[in-house]
Amino acid sequence: MAPKNILDMSGRVALVTGAGTGLGARFCMALAEHGASVVAVARRAEKVEGVAEAIRRDDGQAIAVSGDVTDTASIAAAFDAAEKAFGTVDAVVANAGIAVPGRAAEISDEDWRKTMATNLDGVFFTAREAAQRLLKAGKHGAIVNIASILGYGVGKGNASYAVSKAAVIQMTQALALEWAFKGIRVNAIAPGYVVTDINRDYLTSGKGAEMTKEIPVGRFGREQDLDGALLLLLSEAGAFMTGTTVTVDGGQRIGLRGS
Ligand code: NAD
Repeated sequence: MAPKNILDMSGRVALVTGAGTGLGARFCMALAEHGASVVAVARRAEKVEGVAEAIRRDDGQAIAVSGDVTDTASIAAAFDAAEKAFGTVDAVVANAGIAVPGRAAEISDEDWRKTMATNLDGVFFTAREAAQRLLKAGKHGAIVNIASILGYGVGKGNASYAVSKAAVIQMTQALALEWAFKGIRVNAIAPGYVVTDINRDYLTSGKGAEMTKEIPVGRFGREQDLDGALLLLLSEAGAFMTGTTVTVDGGQRIGLRGS
């Protein structure tokens, strides 16, 4: 008997926010490699055109569209573009996120709002848009929200980020409960430190080497280390999973505490 690939994403339409860089770009590639038609969303479409082009060069299907997750009209337009190209989006990765470091007593109103607008409102608006369209179309689908191990533990200087990511974990449960009977699963991934373009210089510096001592497996994550969890949660393999957050952190969370 031919082995069945339970992580197969063929026939699925996957939309990834914050897809121009880092994990979002990697998620697009992983989904395309497993057969999904991919809609790569970034605030400026030209920034993600390279990601879509790389997928098409490899005989995959992808488009780049613009979408700002803090703006509901812009999210709706991104889903419109996705539907026009491939049909109803049935796999969503709410990945766009920002970190604005700052001690709690010094965080400005603007930085607090900016973090919540992107990391919390943006994830909710993206998931809600996806669910509304799936419900209307009478289709099943899966949503993955990108949280962080800082949704569980905290460190000095990351209050706004940690609070927003804790909210994503709770939101994942709330949305999963409401939509499970409609065939829409909602899960999250809580990554530990993963080396991306944005943090490579710091994490590969002397200070970064020190930080690996806090990670039981002894290294930072690589972008591809999240592929397994992502595909599990979005594909048929995760059909009985909803409302859960999968931690992918080399064991770092076990020892996470306030510092
Ligand atoms: P990144 O900065 O490369 O990716 C974030 C992307 O989101 C960027 O492309 C950015 O342009 C986009 N974005 C920001 N605001 C947006 C908005 N309003 N609308 C649309 N797009 C917007 O960093 P990354 O490491 O790839 O992070 C991706 C996600 O993973 C984030 O949610 C981040 O919090 C989370 N995360 C990352 C790590 C890590 O170590 N890299 C660890 C835990 C969680």
